Amino acid sequence: MNFSLEGRTYVVMGVANKRSIAWGIARSLHEAGARLIFTYASERFEKPVKDLVSTLEGQDALFYECDVTSDEAVTATFDQIKQDVGTIHGLAHCIAFAKKEDLQGEFVDTSRDGYLLAHNISAYSLVSVSRAAQPLMSEGGGIVTLTYLGGERVVQNYNVMGVAKASLDATMKYLANDLGKHGVRVNAISAGPIRTLSAKGVGDFNTILKQIEEKAPLRRTVTQEEVGDTAYYLLSDLSRGVTGEIIHVDSGYSILGLS
Ligand code: NAD
Repeated sequence: MNFSLEGRTYVVMGVANKRSIAWGIARSLHEAGARLIFTYASERFEKPVKDLVSTLEGQDALFYECDVTSDEAVTATFDQIKQDVGTIHGLAHCIAFAKKEDLQGEFVDTSRDGYLLAHNISAYSLVSVSRAAQPLMSEGGGIVTLTYLGGERVVQNYNVMGVAKASLDATMKYLANDLGKHGVRVNAISAGPIRTLSAKGVGDFNTILKQIEEKAPLRRTVTQEEVGDTAYYLLSDLSRGVTGEIIHVDSGYSILGLS
């Protein structure tokens, strides 16, 4: 078995800063020898992402702006990637958004706008991105998205994002069924809570972290690197028989019979 990703190219979507889970994934793929392509939401992220990536020794990365709320932007991005590199071997979708006011209080108060926005960016984007990326995976490939326990069970304050994650989980499975015939596998990692820019928006996030430290079988939270290494597994041939799966990287918290 060859564990190297040398000669392979992966698109990493959603690095905002060094705390981003996408950055943990980028580092794992880089260490395995992959060439990386980064997409970011808006111009504002261009310099910080390029500065971060410059710390990856020997990485000949490419960068594209891609706001996933626009199908035109997604299509144009992957058309450009096709022109620039031809074939890609996989993609990490690490993108989510909900209004801060929808990540606290009661779910029943979620506005129509807030509900649609969270689903648009956090779930539908996987459909749009997968449709645009699949033709570039002419040698087969892997797509990985990031989900959370709040899509399977009620987690306080996670609210509309939990419902969007439930949609994302089902989206991932339907995509796995469609894209399997093209040799493309689609899977999700359900990460335990990690302090990132997005996580800051979730009300009382510190309590969620504390709960993991006290109750999870491993009695600690997980790191971006641990999620990154699981993404490496899902994007490499090691997982070639696995598709439509959700792997929990959460110190075992999801097995517990308590909330
Ligand atoms: P993050 O804030 O670092 O990453 C979220 C990314 O989404 C950012 O790069 C942001 O620019 C991008 N994004 C938002 N709107 C976008 C748009 N319209 N177009 C393109 N990109 C857009 O936070 P993170 O925690 O690393 O989040 C990455 C993924 O991991 C998300 O799906 C999140 O729900 C998931 N996740 C996070 C945790 C956690 O505790 N941090 C746990 C489980 C799952």
